[in-house]
Amino acid sequence: MSFKTLDDLANIAGQRTLVRVDLNVPMDGTTVTDTTRIERVLPTIRELSEKGAKVILLAHFGRPKGERVESMSLAPVAPAVAKLLGKPVAFADDCIGETAASAIAALSDGDVLLLENTRYHKGEEKNDPEFAKALAANGDVYVNDAFSAAHRAHGSTEGIANLLPSYAGRTMQAELEALGSALGEPKRPVLAVVGGAKVSSKIDLLDNLVGKVDMLVIGGGMANTFLAAKGVNVGKSLCEHDLADTARKIMATAEKAGCEIVLPLDAVVAREFKAGADNETVGLDAIPADAMMLDVGAASIDVVKEKIDAANTLVWNGPLGAFEIDPFDKATVAAARHAAQRTKAGELNSVAGGGDTVAALNHAGVADDFSYVSTAGGAFLEWLEGKELPGVKALEA
Ligand code: AMP
Repeated sequence: MSFKTLDDLANIAGQRTLVRVDLNVPMDGTTVTDTTRIERVLPTIRELSEKGAKVILLAHFGRPKGERVESMSLAPVAPAVAKLLGKPVAFADDCIGETAASAIAALSDGDVLLLENTRYHKGEEKNDPEFAKALAANGDVYVNDAFSAAHRAHGSTEGIANLLPSYAGRTMQAELEALGSALGEPKRPVLAVVGGAKVSSKIDLLDNLVGKVDMLVIGGGMANTFLAAKGVNVGKSLCEHDLADTARKIMATAEKAGCEIVLPLDAVVAREFKAGADNETVGLDAIPADAMMLDVGAASIDVVKEKIDAANTLVWNGPLGAFEIDPFDKATVAAARHAAQRTKAGELNSVAGGGDTVAALNHAGVADDFSYVSTAGGAFLEWLEGKELPGVKALEA
């Protein structure tokens, strides 16, 4: 896909630039407890401000469902952005109408203003054209830097992009370029590693990936469903037996598409789901009836490493085992470190994402060593499912 970026924004000085950002940050009262999302949008804010634009930030917070809910005000977020940005960030009590307009009129070139929660208006989530018009009335240019909100067709993510000249911010651009390099026009062979708890939450994702990648490693709890569908007795493991047909269909589609599916060869089993639980590694024909598989075993880890070595591109979502509890994090950590090493050596383009995946890579200490780690959650998963993201589509040049 092609989209315009900040590089295409000449003469932005003095222009009212509406920038959609993700400031849905974790808060404790009025204190921001994790500034990751703020940090991600700083490059765009800084660049626009340095070029003399009037930077007007649009964002949502929580789910106030079209009402003014005081606890979901963005007011306490403005000082947190200001602190990290190193310059003042003004705040306006409404994102449309006279309140917003007069705050914007008071801006000098290069100033930054945050508007109140877009979701205080019902028109935001409904993508009401009148609301989008009211937003657009306050800007000359629209920049979307919130990939994580791009799977929603809302007024501030989609509607407005059809009304103003629209551009991708630096974070959006980085995300789209990383995703494009992984599944759009990747260097083959492409390996996908998909783990996590359940097949049921990832059917669309698996369906899409088997048509696009050359190898698919399935691990985590969801591998049990595939193994059971192939006749393996998985004991008390987390397993969706009712999805055996779905698993078989996915395997058949993969075969037709020439995608090699790699399932675990051995299992680390325990009788309790808790840290330090007694465990043993067994072959697939020896999973005890009263035990559950909480990680894949050493033989499986070796195969995953081999596949990583064979790949030029890696897309990863979901842990290979119950990585939050020791020692069932071994396979996830070993595979993540191996992928990180190859990435650092310049041999692998590695793109990972999805909530638990980010936590797993952080746990393995390698989040910074992957080519790109998406913190976008739902939007990243919808992209892995092959869905068109309305907020991205609307930016298409
Ligand atoms: P997801 O959100 O679908 O990516 O699932 C992540 C969760 O799957 C993590 O909390 C893991 O603990 C869990 N998980 C991974 N492997 C297993 C397994 N073999 N048995 C039970 N839970 C697992």
